Amino acid sequence: MNRTHTNGELRKEDAGKRVTLCGWVAKRRNLGAICFIDLRDRYGITQVTFNESFQEAIKDIRNEYVLEVTGTVAVKEVPNKNLETGEIEVQVESFKILNTAKTTPMIIADKTDALEDVRLKYRYLDLRRKPLYTNLLIRDKVTMITRNYLHSLNFVEVETPILSKSTPEGARDYLVPSRLYKGKFYALPQSPQIYKQLLMIAGMDRYFQIARCFRDEDLRADRQPEFDQIDIEMSFADEEDIFKVVEGLMQRIFKEIKDVDLEEHFERIKYDDAMRYYGSDKPDLRFDMRLHDLNEVFKATSFSVFSSVIENGGLIKAINAKGAASKYSRKDLDHLTEFVKIYKAKALAYVKYSEGEFTGSIAKFLSDEEKEALKKEMDIENGDLILIVADEKSIANVAMGALRVKVAHDLGIIDESSFKFAWITDFPMFEYSKESNTYVACHHPFTAPHDEDVDKLLTDKGNCYSRAYDLVLNGYELLSGSVRIHDQAMQEKVFEALGLTKEQAQDKFGFFLEAFEYGAPPHLGVGIGVERLIMILCGTDNIKDVVAFPKTASAMCLMSEAPNTVDPAQLDDLKIKIAE
Ligand code: ASP
Repeated sequence: MNRTHTNGELRKEDAGKRVTLCGWVAKRRNLGAICFIDLRDRYGITQVTFNESFQEAIKDIRNEYVLEVTGTVAVKEVPNKNLETGEIEVQVESFKILNTAKTTPMIIADKTDALEDVRLKYRYLDLRRKPLYTNLLIRDKVTMITRNYLHSLNFVEVETPILSKSTPEGARDYLVPSRLYKGKFYALPQSPQIYKQLLMIAGMDRYFQIARCFRDEDLRADRQPEFDQIDIEMSFADEEDIFKVVEGLMQRIFKEIKDVDLEEHFERIKYDDAMRYYGSDKPDLRFDMRLHDLNEVFKATSFSVFSSVIENGGLIKAINAKGAASKYSRKDLDHLTEFVKIYKAKALAYVKYSEGEFTGSIAKFLSDEEKEALKKEMDIENGDLILIVADEKSIANVAMGALRVKVAHDLGIIDESSFKFAWITDFPMFEYSKESNTYVACHHPFTAPHDEDVDKLLTDKGNCYSRAYDLVLNGYELLSGSVRIHDQAMQEKVFEALGLTKEQAQDKFGFFLEAFEYGAPPHLGVGIGVERLIMILCGTDNIKDVVAFPKTASAMCLMSEAPNTVDPAQLDDLKIKIAE
């Protein structure tokens, strides 16, 4: 075609040039017989001006028509400051209508009030909107930076199968029935975990892949049934090596996309400390407001709620909302109580401190000694508000962790422009599942235990720690990974600890276990959640904003209407009958 420039390109210096532009009609304005059209493509908008001689020829042109215009670049008398090309216009000499358009079901503008269902059904129109396609451009840039960076460190991109065997990330699999093997199924990979470890055994040394992963889970605002991971695995390396690789990658991405210089080494926090001080394994570190453990302060309390929690092995946890005593009314505090109840806490106690006096729901139970101890432990000053949950250990931590973040948002003390990364290390090896009444892998079953916990794997599962790690950023989990087991006997022992019989382990992972008999190198890796990273870079908390063709919260594609029924002949081929 004849296009000479994009619609984001022309400047004052181009005045006098004869150009041909293509694009969509974003806006049409008539001034007497003269017509101004904003012509849009993904590079920008250029104003093209039709003089009176075109009046008849262009009378039908409406928004979203596709045009090719040829004309001369002229400097505008009054520049349009809202457009990058605003200093110029193109005075049209000839034009072609390349296509017409019906009235669109949503307005194509930066801001839209169209319902999400409409935006998803007409996604290709929604994607004409700058905020949305800009997110895709950022995503493209991030994957480019990633590929270049990892290649520069000798990593090799290898694709692994989509039709695979069930993998062990612990979510529900998407299954694909086999036509050739009646009753058998492929599983779509929840991650390339097994394959990337096999690539280490194959001697690939340094692997990466921008890998599509599939998990049939209940969806949330930050989940989609299919998503991408920057999946990395390396041999003959330990935590220091992989942390350095990932820190370097983040530094590049944040420099190029946000022009932010990240610190050279990210903070490291042990899992137990993260839970103790922040009540979360993905703490938001843009503000401090740590959780305090008040069991010692209240060891001789006359307040029976606290004393019975201590007796039963629970925790009294508190935060100091600095200067917030006058900011929360009684009613606001009731709301906070409702809030902690979401996290199963039974109640929220509080004390306010002003002019040397404690007031509030439990003030009357505080002895002078306890007041002093509390002041010291929590660094209490005039005007502070202390919020307290006393409950089972995990409930007290998690509820206070969530409250910490809520209160910080309420008080507006979070620096939204900062990026606080931290490695969370030393995760528990197993977590107890109340539903199944068993221990399950905290990360996945290929994660190496700490050397000193190996003897406890079968006898004291609740106290085994692993060499798993997460990278968190501003309260989000950005990646997880681990040092892997590379010894067959150890892998078998961990399967046993997870309650898999020898036969079950053989049936599920036999080919994988066998590979360990042929010289598996020490190795470790990570999977970085691409969408989450892009969401943070784009400043959105809706994952759909960073996926070209996303699914709804009920896993539907409103545009193509997938999933859908299929031809009965296809089901016959697969020997599948749909049960009523
Ligand atoms: N496969 C893991 C995950 O998806 C990441 C890893 O251990 O590399 O969480």
